[in-house]
Amino acid sequence: MKIFKFGGASVKDADGVKNLLKVLKHEGLKNTVVVVSAMGKMTNAFEKIVDAYFYKKIAVSDAILHVRNYHLAIITDLSFDENDVIFFDFEQIFAQLSGFLTKNTSKDYNYIYDQTVSFGELLSTKIVSAYLTKDGVKNNWIDVREQIRTNDFYRNAQVDWIETTKRISSNIDASKLTITQGFLGGNKENTTTLGREGSDYTAAIFAHCLNAESVTIWKDVIGVLNADPRSFEEAKLLEQISYKEAIEMAFYGASVIHPKTLKPLENKLIPLYVRSFIDLDNLGTSVKKGVDLYPKTPCFILKKKQILVSISALDFSFMVEHNLRDIFNYLHDHKLKVNLIQNSALSFTVCIEDLYGNFDAFYNNIESNYKVSFNRGVTLFTVRHFDEISVSKIEKSHTVLLKQTSRETIQFVVE
Ligand code: ADP
Ligand code: ASP
Ligand code: MG
Repeated sequence: MKIFKFGGASVKDADGVKNLLKVLKHEGLKNTVVVVSAMGKMTNAFEKIVDAYFYKKIAVSDAILHVRNYHLAIITDLSFDENDVIFFDFEQIFAQLSGFLTKNTSKDYNYIYDQTVSFGELLSTKIVSAYLTKDGVKNNWIDVREQIRTNDFYRNAQVDWIETTKRISSNIDASKLTITQGFLGGNKENTTTLGREGSDYTAAIFAHCLNAESVTIWKDVIGVLNADPRSFEEAKLLEQISYKEAIEMAFYGASVIHPKTLKPLENKLIPLYVRSFIDLDNLGTSVKKGVDLYPKTPCFILKKKQILVSISALDFSFMVEHNLRDIFNYLHDHKLKVNLIQNSALSFTVCIEDLYGNFDAFYNNIESNYKVSFNRGVTLFTVRHFDEISVSKIEKSHTVLLKQTSRETIQFVVE
């Protein structure tokens, strides 16, 4: 059986939904689990509902209306029969969303976030499933929250693999076409999410639990390139990548594959294909056991919106083990993601990412015990398999604040 993942870009409008059906017809309509993300940038739009609910800068009803109109326009463009069940499902989802926000008494932002943004994937899969049905393509819509069981770490829930494997292997009919949501999970009572861009990971979870023959991620690019084509004009296709190399690339921030996706596949040697949902004849990229990288070429990875922080002791003493332990406790407590570390006798420097808006609190806490300076809005530039030409190009075109080299990788923090 095969697992397909369609991201937001692939279902951003009615043509995208029609194209999804075209891809399925081209690849075969059986033995497949189709994992779908929220449409277009709808997860961002749902985040605005949560923000409106909390901070009241805009009206919750306006934020909801935007999301409602977006989906309704797609449903209209798909020309459903006026009695189609999609209209009922659509109204029910918006009634559930409003109901939740009206009745909720919790103040836990992350909990409310997960209960709210999850409607993005519920809507997209309902629309896709209804469209396939309308076209005569039989499919089973499955609520993934009953299949992927997690802990209650809202917004970054950890999978309970034993329970999840039990459920998926007994509830999914491998011979049929299944449509389900990416990104979501469930604990005993509530919806959880697996982290932004987590639908790739969902596909890998299904593949692992079902011993699938492959996972295919359908993209608006021809495959994994040696750089993000939005930033590099001459990015070229990587035809084959080993699991290890793909894990490294995802770890450094190649946003084309979610970092958690690869390990569950590598453990069962399930190949991952990254292919274009437009150019179906292009084989794209295979991530599997074998050569590290083909063609072997420098790979460029940019991580924007980083903060470079330098920390030293107030009395100019050395930065030794107990200081480092202390600093990591501060970082961990504020859920700051560390992407690069550099240590010297008197100062400890980290390049971090503030995913949850905690940097100011971190700074206020640590500043009473350490001398801290920082640059916001810097970029972490990583080159895997670097060569002289690629390095000198970067150094000439950027102000480099920090540089670190290992055998296969060079990293720069640039302004
Ligand atoms: P999805 O719809 O599956 O969530 P994304 O928009 O998250 O897709 O990812 C696809 C985009 O990732 C591409 O349009 C491309 O701009 C970007 N991207 C970043 N790095 C790479 C890379 N190394 N190779 C290919 N695409 C990349
Ligand atoms: N819809 C979610 C997001 O935008 C998950 C995903 O697209 O993978 O983060
Ligand atoms: Mg994405």
